[in-house]
Amino acid sequence: MSSNQNNNNNRPSKKMKSIAHRIVWLITKTKMKLYFKTDILIFVLLNMFWAYMKEIEVIGSFSFHRHRDLILQNGLITGLTYKVTSLGGELLMSVGFFGVASRIGALVLALYMLQLLGVLFSLPVVSGKAHKTLRPISDLAEKADELNKLAFSEDKYRLIEDAIEHVVPDENQYVYLHDKELLGVEQSVNRLIERLKDSYRQQARFVNDASHELRTPIAVIQGYAQMLERWGSTDEKVLDESIAAISNEADHMNRLVEQLLFLARGDSGKTVLAKEPVKLGELMQEIYEESFMIDETHPYRFRKSEEEIIIDADRTLLKQAVRVLVDNAAKYTNPGDEIILGVGRGDDNHPYLMVQDTGIGMTQADVEHMFERFYRADKARTYNGTGLGLSIAKWIVDRHGGYFEILSRTELGTRIKIIL
Ligand code: ATP
Ligand code: MG
Repeated sequence: MSSNQNNNNNRPSKKMKSIAHRIVWLITKTKMKLYFKTDILIFVLLNMFWAYMKEIEVIGSFSFHRHRDLILQNGLITGLTYKVTSLGGELLMSVGFFGVASRIGALVLALYMLQLLGVLFSLPVVSGKAHKTLRPISDLAEKADELNKLAFSEDKYRLIEDAIEHVVPDENQYVYLHDKELLGVEQSVNRLIERLKDSYRQQARFVNDASHELRTPIAVIQGYAQMLERWGSTDEKVLDESIAAISNEADHMNRLVEQLLFLARGDSGKTVLAKEPVKLGELMQEIYEESFMIDETHPYRFRKSEEEIIIDADRTLLKQAVRVLVDNAAKYTNPGDEIILGVGRGDDNHPYLMVQDTGIGMTQADVEHMFERFYRADKARTYNGTGLGLSIAKWIVDRHGGYFEILSRTELGTRIKIIL
């Protein structure tokens, strides 16, 4: 295992070394080619310069209007001759060229050798620079290799599996792997456990609260049923009172069960949104008309926006969320006091639906908890209700990517906006 690890560790740096060597070789080759080309140019230029000087020396002047030839005499390279003739064909100069050219050649060759030596001496510096430049890439390769090892190490998988297996869900237990390399994994798993425990606790509290809420109407119904059994057949007052109370509690229970079912279906992901383009003005107008038909005790007003706002939403659910707000406004506002419905766009151009009342209002603490399941402010307890309406509205608004804006003062009233 450990030797294997060492092999793996060496692999990236070895690869990097060979890349560095290749880079150095490439630089050296390019330099040598460049020197070779410039040296050839120097050779040609020096020969031309010599010819120019020679013409001035022998003929006494230099002119472009002459014929110049290099001739091999006797077919030997040593007999190479430089011949200059006038345009009329008169021979002006004929001198041996081999001696000069070979001396210039030797000089240029010596220069090339010197350059080669220079390149050889600078090799360590170039190589050092190449390695330094490649260092971050080399580090990266090593890190990737480490990660690779971590991802495929069977032992580590088993370690994680074992640790998770021993966690008991309802006890205060977390995963401890005792392995520095797995610290990140350990923290993520523990965060996940914490979230699971949180949702488990929430679920347990919800079930607890729900059964408590259901127990009350059942107990009331049972009480009246017993009363009916004893005196119902003889006492008409008891009969009427019991029937009214049982019917009332049954209504309450029916509503409660419906609310609980909605939230349970929402939690389990069974409620699917059917989105379509919805005209917000039209939706609010409908709620407005229904409101003063259902509730004749409050004057309703509707503040319509001039612009027709259309959004993609589940019409039925969105209407249900607004109904929750209107029901609350009606419930927590004295008869005769005004309730205003509104549609529009906020400062940030987001569309909103608004319900505003002049009712009992809420304290800051109430506002902070109002969306919690079964939460009811102390002052609200004298009114009928279960404390689930706003939880349902919030679920719907959340699923539409929206949020609530609440402004409330005790004894003054409440304004709730659904911002979409
Ligand atoms: P139900 O589930 O029957 O609607 P509820 O109205 O008590 O019962 P929510 O609608 O969830 O429950 O509201 C939660 C609490 O928020 C209320 O009990 C009340 O204290 C407070 N609240 C909500 N709307 C208003 C309002 N318009 N004015 C004053 N208090 C309000
Ligand atoms: Mg309500």
